[in-house]
Amino acid sequence: MKIILATSNNGKVKEIAELFKDEEVLPYGEVVKPFHIEESGEDFAANALIKARAVFEKLPKGSGSIVLSDDSGISVPLLGGEPGIYSARYAGKGASDRENLNKLVEELKRRGVKQTPAFYTAAIAIVSPEAEYVVHGWMHGMVVDKPRGDGGFGYDPIFIPEDYDKTLGELSPEIKREISHRAKALSLAMPIVKMLRSIYE
Ligand code: IMP
Repeated sequence: MKIILATSNNGKVKEIAELFKDEEVLPYGEVVKPFHIEESGEDFAANALIKARAVFEKLPKGSGSIVLSDDSGISVPLLGGEPGIYSARYAGKGASDRENLNKLVEELKRRGVKQTPAFYTAAIAIVSPEAEYVVHGWMHGMVVDKPRGDGGFGYDPIFIPEDYDKTLGELSPEIKREISHRAKALSLAMPIVKMLRSIYE
């Protein structure tokens, strides 16, 4: 059974493939021609399902594959929960990770805030011929107004996880693998994947 990832975000592909080391994991771009998926849902779960269903529908019937997608983002309560589900397009459609991070830094600076609580959310959807599933994971911490380190991706250089004093840009990938929103959601997805594998093999 192959796990097809409904994402072309290299940061996510890397983190998910590392967590699912014993499974055959492929980004969907290696199986079907990449196409635009409109993320029109109102929350992370809805968008994760939209992406996983869109890719699943393109797979040949009986391919023996399941599709796994991640919809994730960072929410800052001081900013009314922004950027939230708009994390990937906070600085506008097609914005780079750095442009989105810079916009969040600007919003903090505009309010004279050096650091404020924030949290990441990950919704992982699994679409299989039998059923659909969604699980969540969260990671709480602070966002700061000065990027530090170049590890991870996205907003990691300005996010300090609870109980740490370094940003995710400075912390090792091993630590992020233990504490991240995505790792927590994937630990819930793991038994679902194993159960699905057991009915195919
Ligand atoms: P999505 O690909 O539509 O789910 O958008 C996810 C966006 O949220 C990414 O482009 C990042 O900006 C942000 N994001 C999600 N997870 C992480 C993470 O683990 N680190 C840093 N940024 C993240």
